[in-house]
Amino acid sequence: MAARERLELRVTGVVQGIGFRPFVYQLAQQHGLSGFVGNDNRGVFIEVEGAPDALAQFQLALIQQPPPLAHIETLTARELPNHHDQQFTIVESLKQPNAATLVSPDLCICDDCLRELFDPSDRRYRYPLINCTQCGPRYTIIRDLPYDRPLTTMRDFAMCPSCAAEYHDPLNRRFHAQPTACPDCGPKVTFVGKGMSADGDPIRAAQAVLRTGGIVAVKGLGGFHLACDATNDAAVARLRVRKNRPDKPFAVMVTDLAAAAQIADVTTGEAALLTSRERPIVLLRKRHVSDRITGAGNPLVGVMLPYTALHVLLLENLPSLVMTSGNLSGTPIITDNGEALTTLAPIADAFLLHDRAIQTPCDDSVVRVIDSAPTLVRRSRGYAPLPIALPFAVPPLLGVGGELKNALCLADRQRAFMSQHIGDMQNIETLSAFETAFDHLRKLFRIAPECIACDLHPNYLSTRWAQTYAQAHDLPLLLVQHHHAHIAALMAEQQLLSDAQVIGVCFDGTGYGTDGAIWGGEVLLAGYAGFDRAAHLAYVPLAGGDLSVKKPYRMALAHLYAAGIAWDDDLPPVRVCPPPEQRILCQQLEQGINTVPTSSMGRLFDAVAALIGLRQMVSYEAQAAIALEGAATTLSESPYRFEQRGDIIDPAPLLRAIITDLRAGVSPAVIAGRFHAATADLVVTTAIRWRAQTGINQVALSGGVFQNALLLSLCKVKLTAQGFDLLTHGRVPPNDGGIALGQIAIAAHQRR
Ligand code: ZN
Ligand code: ZN
Ligand code: FE
Repeated sequence: MAARERLELRVTGVVQGIGFRPFVYQLAQQHGLSGFVGNDNRGVFIEVEGAPDALAQFQLALIQQPPPLAHIETLTARELPNHHDQQFTIVESLKQPNAATLVSPDLCICDDCLRELFDPSDRRYRYPLINCTQCGPRYTIIRDLPYDRPLTTMRDFAMCPSCAAEYHDPLNRRFHAQPTACPDCGPKVTFVGKGMSADGDPIRAAQAVLRTGGIVAVKGLGGFHLACDATNDAAVARLRVRKNRPDKPFAVMVTDLAAAAQIADVTTGEAALLTSRERPIVLLRKRHVSDRITGAGNPLVGVMLPYTALHVLLLENLPSLVMTSGNLSGTPIITDNGEALTTLAPIADAFLLHDRAIQTPCDDSVVRVIDSAPTLVRRSRGYAPLPIALPFAVPPLLGVGGELKNALCLADRQRAFMSQHIGDMQNIETLSAFETAFDHLRKLFRIAPECIACDLHPNYLSTRWAQTYAQAHDLPLLLVQHHHAHIAALMAEQQLLSDAQVIGVCFDGTGYGTDGAIWGGEVLLAGYAGFDRAAHLAYVPLAGGDLSVKKPYRMALAHLYAAGIAWDDDLPPVRVCPPPEQRILCQQLEQGINTVPTSSMGRLFDAVAALIGLRQMVSYEAQAAIALEGAATTLSESPYRFEQRGDIIDPAPLLRAIITDLRAGVSPAVIAGRFHAATADLVVTTAIRWRAQTGINQVALSGGVFQNALLLSLCKVKLTAQGFDLLTHGRVPPNDGGIALGQIAIAAHQRR
């Protein structure tokens, strides 16, 4: 008898909930090996016994041809004494404390399930909650690890004999598919509203409501959507009124790529993202879309393809649906049927529900392709909670993020787990969603933070929560400057090592500075451990705080005031501002009453948008800046320039040049183009200046302003031409959704 050997193998990474054990089982059969495979909190454990050659081939195949959704982080092996077992089996999952495996994000419906969905002879024909080991809900149904049915919200559904047979058959594609179900035993879709269809099909009933211009609340994977027919302007208008959302863009779900190409330009990279298994909302350049959907002056439309069978069925014969988060303005997405039926009742005409509970809310992710590179604008469903690999090891840490677009980050060793998108932390509902997310992730990944990092802003709800939590648990609290966190997040995402130094250009709307001012047009010489504020936009008084954010014409007037430019009546923002408001504003600016100095680049974009008559009032963040980018259709080199005096970047000469152009009848398209070019020139001249002084050649561009594709592309071209190494965001948002990662990276270094 040939020699036999036995090996213990341990596989970590994304190896649960994606058909890894059946794959190992079949591989062992192929190579004539005995032993077993199982899941535990750390990943997959395997013992295999057989001929040495067969063992070697088995290991090779494991690494080279894992199942498509698997992502192996490590494979370790050690020899064991022979056990002489005869068969290969799949064993029960083991639950161990204090160890963590990775959790798969939710996956869009796979081709095999799609085929079954439309096969009249299949027992899951037209079953809206069909799934398998390759697709379906994961993170949103997981209550704890290891990933096993009793620890998911599918525990409420006992499998019928047919489903159980598939579940226990190692050769079946639903072997250990935890959310597997069928019309006999699984969760059911129901319709609540007037006009149930004659055949009792809840989806047809919902379609009937949509076809007549109605609004339907649809329960999906990570929460509710509010849906209406995107081709029906009146329906979209009604949704805007009922949701109290005058301009903020709605996303559209369309049947396929061809349908997407009818409403927007779709590049190859964008097509790949639209059809990726993450199925994010992709921001496309719009072609034939009503302004009611995108908001006037917005050149982009957010498009996604159906990602569950329920969506596929709902879109049959309905080419495109507006699909916006099912929530009340400013509060988290709703996941519970009962809550939806009451809270969304004033908005929705009908409800399309199912009774599979959602453990974790997950909004749709949003991606923009800039220069053929995807930039995540919102990292949520499909991406969370996969970790970001850190370039250094850290102790257990918590970063609580900022205020807007909050996402938290729990990190341990070389992994940073960014939460799903939580929302704008400006009310008790969002704070409570934050606490739930923290609690869940902490337990799921067995991370007990030893230190908490939060924003320096004393009034952020996230900061106050961190103070309370740190005190209650006797943990050190680290306050991290907002723009330093932005730059550190980018450094960590791009795998910069602990001693790295960059010229960090951080342009955003708002962030609390170390001097108590509102920063946002910052050039930082930064490493993880600290930063120097090398240069910044000149301070202008932000009068009345929020009021000046919502009314860009006030920001324009403040900028004119700071630049010593008269408020002449021919200027659009002056015309818009009623004389009594002008008088009060002028007094405020002169006497510094209720004003805060700000160096925000986002506010300068607002001011310029107002100055050239594009947008005087906004109802959502960055609305004026988006209009300014959209207007910049004519690009030329810029005759505008910022003046640099010491560490001050003064926009006054630029504003004067814009007004000269405006009075000479130069079009807003040209002025907007010149402004973008001037801003990119500013980035380059600043980088050149600080490279000369410090020898640092790496430039990091972060902050929400760099979601502006035009500005980012211009900066890329100009910086690359000057020989700089350029760091830009990809997997972590450049906006405040990314700063929790920077907070933990900084905390890890300041604690050393
Ligand atoms: Zn499937
Ligand atoms: Zn069944
Ligand atoms: Fe920010």
